[in-house]
Amino acid sequence: MPTLPAIIQASISADGILLSADEPLLALQREAGGDLGERFAIPQLAAVARLAMKLGVAVSRPVTAASARHDIDMWVRAKPESQAVHLSVIDWQERPVFSASNNSGLLEADLAAVSDGWNWQVDTQLRFQMVLEGGDLDGALPAQPPVPGSPFSSYFQLQVDEDGDMAILRGFTQRRAFRNQLACLMTDPARRFHLSGFPLFDLTGQLLGYRGKAFALDLAVPVPEIAPPAAVDSLAFGKRLDRSLRQPLGRIIANADTISAQLEGPLRSDYAGYALDIASAGRHLMALVDDLADLQAIDRPDFTIASEAVDLADLGRRAAGLLGVKALDRQIHVLAPAMDEIIPARGEFRRVLQILVNLIGNAIRYGPEGSEVRVETGLEDGLSRIAVTDQGSGIGPDDRERIFEKFERLGRDDQGGSGLGLYISRRLARAMGGDIRIEGEAGQGARFILTLPLDEESGRVGLEREQALD
Ligand code: ADP
Repeated sequence: MPTLPAIIQASISADGILLSADEPLLALQREAGGDLGERFAIPQLAAVARLAMKLGVAVSRPVTAASARHDIDMWVRAKPESQAVHLSVIDWQERPVFSASNNSGLLEADLAAVSDGWNWQVDTQLRFQMVLEGGDLDGALPAQPPVPGSPFSSYFQLQVDEDGDMAILRGFTQRRAFRNQLACLMTDPARRFHLSGFPLFDLTGQLLGYRGKAFALDLAVPVPEIAPPAAVDSLAFGKRLDRSLRQPLGRIIANADTISAQLEGPLRSDYAGYALDIASAGRHLMALVDDLADLQAIDRPDFTIASEAVDLADLGRRAAGLLGVKALDRQIHVLAPAMDEIIPARGEFRRVLQILVNLIGNAIRYGPEGSEVRVETGLEDGLSRIAVTDQGSGIGPDDRERIFEKFERLGRDDQGGSGLGLYISRRLARAMGGDIRIEGEAGQGARFILTLPLDEESGRVGLEREQALD
């Protein structure tokens, strides 16, 4: 194959005529029976050009076009200019044509056409958004299907292929389709699958997640498993919550994302906007369901929490990092603990992170735009401490206990929260032998302080190090 230009360019008139094209695109146009000055005959690219022209904005997305010998994966950007659309194509990759007897060539359209296997969709955090039964027996969901909102990696154990490679990792890092990734269920390694998937993008080319199929391997006759009658206990409540709320919500979010990404074809921009609103309302409800599930778990008499050595400074940095985008949205600068700071404490890693995400998230939400949020650590009376301080209106002395009550939002009725975050955070802190308190003058910003037991072992090491430095 001759070397291709890094960017392959073409230009199409408003009425769909190919005005100019670099060699590989021109060859494809000729193969499709067209030429320069004739109607652009590569339907997948013509559709992107039409969409950009109609919306009046640049659109970029991955496209697969077919030639006689190859399928060609490429990334295309269509930019409307006066009376024409300019196409820039990068990442031109040729691969053998998919044949029905060999599913190693599966891509987006092929995947949609294959009836076996069940369907899954994950967001950019690789959390399940939706799972759906396929069309036949092989498409049946496993007895314990993935729970929407739960991590992909806690459901599937991924396995390397003969070359020691993982198709899914290659796919994810290059934001491309992948096929034949071998995986088994975490809960049942005997149940093996081939996973195939393709990326979902929004109009601006932003990755929304992946959608794909799971094909069951080595399954002789699938035996439908009959679930034992659910005991009416609090565990069953959690499962019911998943089935009756998380799963349908996951589907609503996934479908709204699909509509707003205009995967099924161009839409009027106000409809795409409604779909975005639906997806964001769905995500808000999903967060509420998560809070309710937490609430349900921590209010159980047998609720336990791990006690492990953690570093509050490290957790502060991680929580601040997780909220970077949210902070940027409001032009808020989060000052995290310095990289060399270590404050050893005892608690459960993910629960401490959850508390800090809640406290820093509130500081960003309730602080004024363009302000600062400080995350500072220290030691006090045999306890480890991390404080989150914002520059918002603060919390008056009369409200400092009240805001830790369930559903208390101090009269706020914005869409942003549920009033459960602080209740859950304090319950978690206390279950770890610590607490959360509020300081700061009313009207001068809020200061939330999380204390946890000092981790004696690493605390001693830390103190010795500090003394050595003195
Ligand atoms: P949510 O933020 O979901 O409403 P929380 O339990 O996290 O629920 O917080 C309860 C209420 O406490 C909030 O609605 C808000 O009125 C108040 N609050 C929390 N953090 C702050 C803060 N940093 N500054 C001002 N008010 C706050």
